[in-house]
Amino acid sequence: MGRLVMKFGGTSVANIDRIRNVAQHVKREVDAGHEVAVVVSAMSGKTNELVAWCSEVSPMHDAREYDAIVASGELVTAGLLAIALQAVGIQARSWQGWQIPIKTSDAHASARIEEIDGKEIIKRFTERKEVAVIAGFQGIHEQTGRVTTLGRGGSDTSAVAIAAAIKADRCDIYTDVDGVYTTDPRVVPKAQRMNKVAFEEMLELASQGAKVLQVRSVELGMVHNMPIFVRSSFDKPEDIDPHGTPPGTLICSEEEIMESHVVTGIAFSKDEAQISVRQIEDKPGVAASIFVPLAEANINVDMIVQNVSEDGKTTDLTFTVPATDYARAKETITAAKAKIGYARIDSATDVAKVSVIGSGMRSHAGVAAQAFAALSERQINIRAITTSEIKFSVLIDTAYTELAVRTLHTLYGLDKA
Ligand code: ADP
Ligand code: ASP
Ligand code: MG
Repeated sequence: MGRLVMKFGGTSVANIDRIRNVAQHVKREVDAGHEVAVVVSAMSGKTNELVAWCSEVSPMHDAREYDAIVASGELVTAGLLAIALQAVGIQARSWQGWQIPIKTSDAHASARIEEIDGKEIIKRFTERKEVAVIAGFQGIHEQTGRVTTLGRGGSDTSAVAIAAAIKADRCDIYTDVDGVYTTDPRVVPKAQRMNKVAFEEMLELASQGAKVLQVRSVELGMVHNMPIFVRSSFDKPEDIDPHGTPPGTLICSEEEIMESHVVTGIAFSKDEAQISVRQIEDKPGVAASIFVPLAEANINVDMIVQNVSEDGKTTDLTFTVPATDYARAKETITAAKAKIGYARIDSATDVAKVSVIGSGMRSHAGVAAQAFAALSERQINIRAITTSEIKFSVLIDTAYTELAVRTLHTLYGLDKA
């Protein structure tokens, strides 16, 4: 007997039929003798609708009310799945975040889980053989008693955090693809499913845009050494042997992975914006005068490029921010103009970041250089570059994203035969 967390994303619970299908997946594991906690997302499209409603009422709305609204999608699916399970003879109870409780920080809309008490769930496993159906994406800030949400895609994080809290053997993430691929299989049909991916590499893939797992869920998996198994809810429940090895990708520690590749995968993100601050004075303290106000405004700066000044007096500084923070970032820089001292701001929102990830880069030289050559052959202009130990990223025009991803996928030998 084992203990499992099974998480189902939006497309997996998109309608009543899909929820019944999920109930069959859960029943299979319960019948095999496992103790199961399920984490559900809202029906696909629901969270987007709720977010849009908030903005429609008022573009600058209260983040506490935003959380109260967007957390509601998961409440519906948790209740419906509990009913669907009961209908097939499985003892089940739904749980909202505050009922567990899943305690979080008060950073509304991007709260971090601080503590989960798994005692009651475990007690019900033993006393009643009851399945816990938990609303993902949400928690509660204890001091204020307000509902919080964990950022988009946050149900993955709820699932891994609950798995750690109840000391599960594994956290299964059921989604609409049957694993983690070398790149988004919807963009590159030749992408290949990977059997295993190291936490470190998955962390980079996720943070560079592979939305199959929320970044924070991978961090938690790494900290708690919780194996995460990404698999499809579209595989027929009745065809799966609960004791066999179903198709999917295991995210695990590097030691468990025998073969290593120089490049593991390619991720991309179109939600980027570029800001160039022109003719700033080339003197100590200018970078701080730009980036401290941005940090205070809670804006995450990603790529930074500063030119070497030609005349020793002025230079340009270019950086990227998430597209959602673009307007605020520009306002922040404009408000600090007197302090920074610059001639003008140039900016672009039609930019995308393409990242190449692989732990083999630690020991191989020239991996990035190959990419620059291949992109130039395709006439793709690179606006900015960043590198780190196991990845490099290039900023390009959005229009070339797919071409760049496909070019690099082929270049590094990742295409399916
Ligand atoms: P869910 O609603 O189940 O949480 P998401 O839409 O958040 O599902 O994540 C699954 C999607 O992630 C897939 O449909 C796929 O298009 C996308 N994706 C991006 N990069 C990858 C990748 N490297 N491997 C698999 N899927 C990826
Ligand atoms: N429903 C939330 C979202 O769409 C959380 C999730 O699906 O993981 O972001
Ligand atoms: Mg998701």
